[in-house]
Amino acid sequence: MDTVPAIRLAGLRKSFGPVVAVDGIDLTIGDGEFFAMLGPSGSGKTTVLRMIAGFEQPTAGTVELAGADVTRSAPFQRDVTTVFQDYALFPHLTVRQNVEYGLAVRGKSRAERRTRATEALESVRMAAFADRRPAQLSGGQRQRVALARALVVQPRVLLLDEPLGALDLKLRQQMQVELKQLQRDAGITFVFVTHDQEEALTMSDRIAVFDHGRIAQIGTPAGIYEQPQTEFVAGFVGTSTVLDAAAAKTLLGREGKFMVRPERIHLAPDGDATIAEVVYLGATTKYLIELGETRITASEPNAGTVRQRGDRVHVTIRGEDAVPLE
Ligand code: ATP
Repeated sequence: MDTVPAIRLAGLRKSFGPVVAVDGIDLTIGDGEFFAMLGPSGSGKTTVLRMIAGFEQPTAGTVELAGADVTRSAPFQRDVTTVFQDYALFPHLTVRQNVEYGLAVRGKSRAERRTRATEALESVRMAAFADRRPAQLSGGQRQRVALARALVVQPRVLLLDEPLGALDLKLRQQMQVELKQLQRDAGITFVFVTHDQEEALTMSDRIAVFDHGRIAQIGTPAGIYEQPQTEFVAGFVGTSTVLDAAAAKTLLGREGKFMVRPERIHLAPDGDATIAEVVYLGATTKYLIELGETRITASEPNAGTVRQRGDRVHVTIRGEDAVPLE
């Protein structure tokens, strides 16, 4: 069966005067997909999101939504809703009025507004707060109201611009799981901008890693983590050790440049490498190891072996755990 993609971007570019913010993006996002745009600050993610929403006009290229070219359409003509990082709730309206607003604008009856707003608030477990104003809520609660307000209009595509950025770690982790469940239940296409690699790995079906206005790699979380194609991706997503040609020759007996994840590095006592630093992380311990000129990051689960700074260790890496880099 051939399904029309929710979003298709072709040759998308955006310059602001001399600054090239987005430098040629070709991207297809499937219907019902949870898609993350991940990258460092200034890599162009938000600009791409704003061009999908229609808040920014591309310098070149096209934006298609559900098969229709909307490149020149105004934001309100596009079947997308955006949740901004600052939530942008109306301070003088109650939670319920905020959620009903989009339905009122669309001319829905009072009864329908009420029913649908209640359902949306229940889906984010905020029904009990319907009569409060945004200022009387915590950051996480405001976040949920912003989501309810976006979901209530049942958009085909929901764009999220770092909406969890203002939350503390615990709440963020909780919301990551809840967002994923909400998205699955609602069957809406989610496109999510973040610079937090853990967030992207946790929630997404696929991730595009941005670097200087281009996509460095697209793949599933496991694909990006386990098979990064460039040193940039290997370094930006997760921790990695890059073995240059000399180190690869010594440790792997192979030509070229390779990347190894810390949990794939095996340590045994009494070798020619030295533990230079020990970082205790609760479930695991991270070791920074020096082997001649090469610095290696390894990690082990905290289930027995305790290694100390200055310990001599033997480092082994299995051939299949070393990923060749471009
Ligand atoms: P962040 O994670 O910090 O939000 P980002 O990856 O979303 O970063 P963008 O906001 O898309 O990056 O910005 C990409 C580049 O375009 C940056 O160099 C930024 O300074 C520039 N830029 C963005 N908007 C404008 C604008 N309105 N005018 C001029 N330059 C802009």
